[in-house]
Amino acid sequence: MNLKEHIRNVKDFPKQGIMFRDITTLLKNPEAMKYTSEKLLDFAKGLNVDKVVGIESRGFIFGSILSEKLNAGFIPVRKPGKLPAEKEQATYQLEYGTDTLEIHKDAIVPGDNVLIHDDLLATGGTMEAVCKMIEKLGGNVVQISFIIELSFLKGRDKLKNYDVRSIVEYD
Ligand code: IMP
Repeated sequence: MNLKEHIRNVKDFPKQGIMFRDITTLLKNPEAMKYTSEKLLDFAKGLNVDKVVGIESRGFIFGSILSEKLNAGFIPVRKPGKLPAEKEQATYQLEYGTDTLEIHKDAIVPGDNVLIHDDLLATGGTMEAVCKMIEKLGGNVVQISFIIELSFLKGRDKLKNYDVRSIVEYD
């Protein structure tokens, strides 16, 4: 299957000059859903995974499917103010300004093998921040998977120490 045929390209969203890669068209197609979850599962073959971490909000969709299939727990990483219990926080640089993400402190037990999933890799800033939080809590990041990689932004350079996988790339 050519997954790109199921990804919608939206010009100038959320602002001028950005080509937004929209997976809602992939999600509404059962074959594309199945293909995507099988590919992500295939990347994780042979790994021992205790927790799958999904990043709000599109990382929750296939992150939870993966966790069920891998017999692992699912951990949400959320935007500030959403998680109710004691939290770890990471703030990272955006093109203009900063952003913050949070994880519950008790989500990861030291020594846990963690697979992190998000829908899309752009500059890698989001994923780098999430890796740092997980490592601060004592987790081992065993794989990072994405559906889409914007390879021209070289996000992989920030994630050199990890096993980074993606299903489709845009140059
Ligand atoms: P990064 O931190 O620059 O790698 O940005 C990645 C984050 O931005 C991910 O959580 C993505 O969901 C989101 N993102 C950036 N560009 C797009 C896009 O074109 N489509 C969907 N999500 C995007």
